[in-house]
Amino acid sequence: ATPMSVMVGVGKAAEAGVLIRNGEALQTASKITAMILDKTGTITLGAPKVTDVLVAGEYDEQAVLRLAATLESGSEHPLAMAIVESAQERGIETGKVSNFNAIAGHGVQAEVDGKTLLFGNEKLMRERTIELGDFVEMAQALAAEAKTPMYFAVDNKLAAIIAVADPIKEDSIAAIKRLQHNGIRVVMLTGDNRATAKAVAKKAGIKEFFAEVLPEEKSKKVQELQMEGEVVGMTGDGINDAPALAIANVGFAIGTGTDVAIESADITLMRGSLHGLADAIAVSKATLRNIK
Ligand code: ADP
Ligand code: MG
Repeated sequence: ATPMSVMVGVGKAAEAGVLIRNGEALQTASKITAMILDKTGTITLGAPKVTDVLVAGEYDEQAVLRLAATLESGSEHPLAMAIVESAQERGIETGKVSNFNAIAGHGVQAEVDGKTLLFGNEKLMRERTIELGDFVEMAQALAAEAKTPMYFAVDNKLAAIIAVADPIKEDSIAAIKRLQHNGIRVVMLTGDNRATAKAVAKKAGIKEFFAEVLPEEKSKKVQELQMEGEVVGMTGDGINDAPALAIANVGFAIGTGTDVAIESADITLMRGSLHGLADAIAVSKATLRNIK
């Protein structure tokens, strides 16, 4: 395309809240055959809220939330925010945390009140050989409702399951349909567990998804689709998504996401809405038509 038509295209996109950082991305956007969407914060609001606290053994809800919120006060993960907020809402004061440790893609660990706390997904609990008993079935039931269940262990004994829900953005379903009507293969990518991922993908109208993807594996999924011959668009908001955004044929960042994601992407969706994807592709097509 001529520099002039690219400039016009970039301006048109900007009017739709789509910020294009380079002319090449504008030209490649119309050629995208597969779009990978991160789940949390991209398809969903990225603001999870605690929905269920199921306690085991000697702990009650207040005690569990106090310990869990104290542990999570050391984490910046959206899941951590949900736990801390939930404790605050109930007027629970948090304590002091030491030896805090984040286990990427799995959960967190620390010491509180001289107890060793472990909080995260089933894989983490299995690795630490914590007995889960019939809590596995309860977690699966929560996951089937598109909630994310997390296991909470105190001194290597299961103390609770805490579940959070992160609603789908109200226009994600329609925006995903627009991509599919353009013949684009839409794939969801998440570090979350398989059952929750399946339920969210179904709600969002997405048939294909990869779950339990570790942060460092996200960019590998982009490469896998590229090796299948796809021209890959990647959309994400998190630090975890940055390498995948950089390696994709076109990287799209959610404008409300992290700076690292925005810096790694070619295009920023300022309104946070996934409609920006089909908008960008439409502008790209118009730009290429103008020069033919
Ligand atoms: P996502 O792509 O959903 O942000 P992550 O790779 O960050 O996924 O995390 C994967 C899983 O690890 C989460 O679904 C959760 O079960 C567990 N996890 C990660 N961080 C935390 C945390 N701070 N507290 C509790 N669980 C966590
Ligand atoms: Mg995300």
